[in-house]
Amino acid sequence: MTTKFGPSGISDSFYEDGYKLSIDYPMWLNKMGLELYEYSFGRGINLKEETAIKIGENSQKYGIQLSIHAPYYINFASEDEDIVQKSIGYLKKSSYFAKIMGADRVVFHPGSSAKTDRKRAFDNCKRGIYEAIDELVKEGLYPDIMICPETMGKQNQIGTLDEILEICEFDEKIVPTIDFGHIHALGRGALNSVNDFEYIINKVEEKLGKDRVKDIHCHFSRIEWTNAGEKKHWTIDDIDFGPEFKDLAIVLVKKDLSLRIICESRKNMAEDALKLKRIYLDTLSSLKDKY
Ligand SMILES: [Zn+2]
Repeated sequence: MTTKFGPSGISDSFYEDGYKLSIDYPMWLNKMGLELYEYSFGRGINLKEETAIKIGENSQKYGIQLSIHAPYYINFASEDEDIVQKSIGYLKKSSYFAKIMGADRVVFHPGSSAKTDRKRAFDNCKRGIYEAIDELVKEGLYPDIMICPETMGKQNQIGTLDEILEICEFDEKIVPTIDFGHIHALGRGALNSVNDFEYIINKVEEKLGKDRVKDIHCHFSRIEWTNAGEKKHWTIDDIDFGPEFKDLAIVLVKKDLSLRIICESRKNMAEDALKLKRIYLDTLSSLKDKY
């Protein structure tokens, strides 16, 4: 086992290379030397089932492990029962697609606290997510498909590290998606050292136990922030913006962790995933005798 890398979404260069079809993307990623692909239904689930199956087959063929990102408009925090029920439906549909594609994880954003008192919004989220799990179990989708609530980057979104870990305490197949860019942005530039990253991993360990740390799903990108939190994702070469992946790589090596790292850079997500992988491998070879 080793830490694996891949992009969220399709890099511009895939199309610039002359490819047109998403079913060819797993082959292209494999040629690049990557191992993961997060397929995003962020803006809606508009994929034909036959295409989904084909992407799944090609991913298997080329050794690409798939995860799914559910629609961004999921909102379990809402006071409106209709919105919560629709959110359950979106998570269910995302999990169904995960199943036919051979993906084992569905990442999602829990909800927005913009219109509701934070504690109420968080309680709504927990109730909605646990109800969704009941439905997923009935459909035979859970726990085969793990659901992965994500740490969020804006003040008015549910998804601080503490909130996500509390949601995950409910069941061991609820896996935290730790988005380090979001944590950095929400904390107004909170991640500046190896210790800062180690603190996060230790916190997961403390709350969920050592065994579950190995399941952590990671998102990484450099990010611009304001006092309200996340503003914009940047690329790995945009060094004016943090956080630094090297610091996380050191923690992974030090703690002997093999996690899945999804790169969410703008436009160059696959190239940047490969840059992260190189940083990780360099760190591994330079530190492996030290730890
Ligand atoms: Zn996300």
